[in-house]
Amino acid sequence: MTDSHDPSHTLSLTADWESPAETAADGTWLECVACGETFAPFETIRYTCDACDGLLEVRSDDLPTFDDFSGTGVWRYAESLPLDSGVTIQEGNTPLYRVPRLEADVGVETLRIKHEGMNPTGSFKDRGMTVGVAVARELGVDRLACASTGNTSAALAAYGSRGGMETLVLLPAGKVAAGKVAQASLHGARILEVDGNFDRCLDIVQELASRGETYLLNSLNPFRLEGQKTIGLEILEGFQADYGTWPDRIVLPVGNAGNTAALYKVFRELVQTGELAVEDVPKLTGVQAEGAAPMVEAIENDADAVRRWDEVETRATAIRIGNPVNAPKALPGIRETGGTAVAVSDEAITAAQRDLAEEGIGVEPASAASVAGLRKLRAQGVVAADERVACLTTGHLLKDPDAAAAAGRDPEPVPADTAGVLEVLES
Ligand SMILES: *Cc1c(COP(=O)(O)O)cnc(C)c1O
Ligand SMILES: [Zn+2]
Repeated sequence: MTDSHDPSHTLSLTADWESPAETAADGTWLECVACGETFAPFETIRYTCDACDGLLEVRSDDLPTFDDFSGTGVWRYAESLPLDSGVTIQEGNTPLYRVPRLEADVGVETLRIKHEGMNPTGSFKDRGMTVGVAVARELGVDRLACASTGNTSAALAAYGSRGGMETLVLLPAGKVAAGKVAQASLHGARILEVDGNFDRCLDIVQELASRGETYLLNSLNPFRLEGQKTIGLEILEGFQADYGTWPDRIVLPVGNAGNTAALYKVFRELVQTGELAVEDVPKLTGVQAEGAAPMVEAIENDADAVRRWDEVETRATAIRIGNPVNAPKALPGIRETGGTAVAVSDEAITAAQRDLAEEGIGVEPASAASVAGLRKLRAQGVVAADERVACLTTGHLLKDPDAAAAAGRDPEPVPADTAGVLEVLES
């Protein structure tokens, strides 16, 4: 080949996109990341490639620069999204906390915590739903569905309701944290508890969607991932504002690897517009629980694809996933940015949950995996002392009150008088 660029469907940092005949009036199209087949974005409902069943990506021939962004929250980045506006509950613009004690303890130059638990329903899933539910409305569908380890169902129920649509969620029975089921329930989703794990729920909901019964809003849906790109944009703008530089590394928990895929996509877009130099792209670093680590296995074995784990277990229920559907997008993202993937024990996850709590930041177990992973990689020397790092904490403490109570202090019974209380305090 004499062409100096990779074909546009390859997921390399330097591939340039060329708009095909199917490009919509607004400059967007869908492209298969496996074979390069292209499709018009808003005509027919499809989640994967008609030709090879590969994952689709939303592409645009009119990519924005940082100067094109204005306002706040996810829709600040409308120029980077497939629609101008969404079904919104004021998602995004989450805090990028400084954590001086934890930073010193972990031993990196800079550590910031991007707390996605501060979104309207308490997880980053809101960023994807504000876009995904708006696309559903554009497509004229009236019943939305997802399989979920919990947070996707809470976000779908809230955004679907706000958009006036019916919502259906499939959950693995007994494996979803209490706060999440409560949210899906109150926001009016029809909740189907499946006698099987998350991966089975997703198999079923994909089957329902392919039969035209529902519109699928799992992260297989390429529009949802567009919304999640805004996490990366906020982190980059935050580091520019505070340090005049980009972060060296972004560490995040990995379940279906949708966020990993979304962050990598926005980095590729910024490289194309010249906003970000290839050598400045933050190293994407994924963290999984030891009992559910197929991505880590694939990275360690330098494998082309992940092997589905049929048995998965971890107290970090949000990442209790054995078949990460976005792996074909995420594996190149980790490799091309010079990142890595690491597995951590449930004990290390709980310890990191306590570390964050000491800084006043309340997260659910899966979220703490990022900090546990950073600690492990720093101890191994994989992460250097002079690095500037952002850790993503994906969901709020109140999502999983049982895990929080188990990790925290026990209440102490006291008598109903001051003398009795003082006695206990002094003991
Ligand atoms: C969904 C979720 C994850 C996993 O994110 P992926 O994009 O599927 O890798 C991690 N943590 C929490 C709290 C989540 O809700
Ligand atoms: Zn294809």
